[in-house]
Amino acid sequence: MVGKTIGKQAVVIGASMAGLAAARALADHFERVIVLERDRLPEQAVPRAGTAQSRHLHVLLPGGQRALTDLFPYFERDLANAGAVLLRMSRDVRLEIPGLGPLPSRDFGWFLYCASRPLIELITRRQAERVTNLTIRPQCRVLEITATPDGTMVTGVIYEDADGRQETLAADLVVDASGRAAPTLALLRSSGQPAPDEIVIGVDLHYTTTTFVIPQDASTDWGGVATHPHAPERSRGGYLMPFEGNRWIVTLTGRLGECPPAEPDGFMDYARRLESQTLYNAIAHAERLGGFERYAYPASVWRRFDRLSTFPRGLLPVGDSICRFNPVYGQGMSVAAQEARLLNQLLKGRATKPDPLAGLALAFFSESLPLVEAPWNMSAVPDLVYPETRGERPADFENRLKYNRALIRTAMHDAAVHRLLAEVQQLLKPPSVLQDPAVDRLVQLELFQMRAEEHCLARHSFG
Ligand SMILES: Cc1cc2nc3c(=O)[nH]c(=O)nc-3n(C[C@H](O)[C@H](O)[C@H](O)COP(=O)(O)OP(=O)(O)OC[C@H]3O[C@@H](n4cnc5c(N)ncnc54)[C@H](O)[C@@H]3O)c2cc1C
Repeated sequence: MVGKTIGKQAVVIGASMAGLAAARALADHFERVIVLERDRLPEQAVPRAGTAQSRHLHVLLPGGQRALTDLFPYFERDLANAGAVLLRMSRDVRLEIPGLGPLPSRDFGWFLYCASRPLIELITRRQAERVTNLTIRPQCRVLEITATPDGTMVTGVIYEDADGRQETLAADLVVDASGRAAPTLALLRSSGQPAPDEIVIGVDLHYTTTTFVIPQDASTDWGGVATHPHAPERSRGGYLMPFEGNRWIVTLTGRLGECPPAEPDGFMDYARRLESQTLYNAIAHAERLGGFERYAYPASVWRRFDRLSTFPRGLLPVGDSICRFNPVYGQGMSVAAQEARLLNQLLKGRATKPDPLAGLALAFFSESLPLVEAPWNMSAVPDLVYPETRGERPADFENRLKYNRALIRTAMHDAAVHRLLAEVQQLLKPPSVLQDPAVDRLVQLELFQMRAEEHCLARHSFG
């Protein structure tokens, strides 16, 4: 604990990535932090029921990795010691863009720690367990958030323990990291307070995942592959990454009714019909380890807590409870970690106020807005390219798509632009860095070139 505490006890609902990171931030400012998790928490890096997504490929973007290391200084070291595979993201991960080919392999100097989602969570949990005033209580399901009769001031939670006993826990601050914000929304509803608007992008995305032993003759040209779909004509995507134990995790994706098969022949056939043969060739003769796991992801949801003008004192939703991003872009864990780092800074700045918790949630929603908005825009705009995707298209949608395409084309031949683009996509820098006039000039040239190519194509098709 550092400096003055601003409360006796904080309670966190959920011991997944957002809950653990937030708990670490709170431990600097409260005498005690208690994390309540409904699942039994495994001693090994294995999936658990409360995080069904943990059976699928997870990439921890460098921006999130840095935030986790700021919160837990030994995070990277311990993840590497536990077997994470270190890659240089833009050099070693082959990003295949339909119609353009792979982005050139360039080393920008930062590492990607490739590990299974259960290992990332286990290592994070082990770090949290070392924090002396932080306790994780597994098999404790929160039933409701308690508050004053008008619901404007939260007093704690009621939970059910492993023996089915109901307990009440007092808290100065309750952080809802339950993934769907169900306890928060229930409190708002029951006390007649306004609920946040929800922006929903219906993507109807399907994941099928399995794992392989990395063959001895695996390509040394790349360490991981992302073969993006040829949108909007086709939705088949394929992603392969190494993880602990000399293994590859391979996730195939499809959208809007296209569902990658969960049996050997169908899976391989689907991989063969991706936009490039890189992934298929890699796994064609590799030894498959497990069965096939499926995940259906109907929609991305952003709860606009930032638009509310009132919010109960002593309550704060974080992570997926605020925003569930399309998982294909690998942003959720990173945004949760960055939010926790911001929460720590915010609490530090408020410690000397007479009532540091008054208005905390609204301040947090407003200051964390850029952390959510940037990745949301990066994933929502490309998702809307499919005509069947449900959601409101921005007025300048077509222009944005063309601009993004021109930006990627610029990055293909300009290493400095590639670096900036990678920094933004990997959540190391805000998108505003791409508004640099020098970058814009290059992109405008590329747009001009694209128009010339379209014109040429149109003339040819008229014979
Ligand atoms: C298929 C898929 C792939 C993904 N891939 C990536 C990726 O590559 N990179 C990335 O960064 N992110 C990825 N994500 C997103 C990432 O998993 C989440 O953003 C991340 O786990 C943070 O979520 P969270 O902690 O807010 O919520 P969750 O992970 O949903 O965890 C919520 C926790 O709260 C517990 N809980 C719920 N209700 C209660 C209750 N009443 N009482 C007590 N405990 C409760 C649950 O058991 C669980 O442990 C992916 C998601 C999916 C679905």
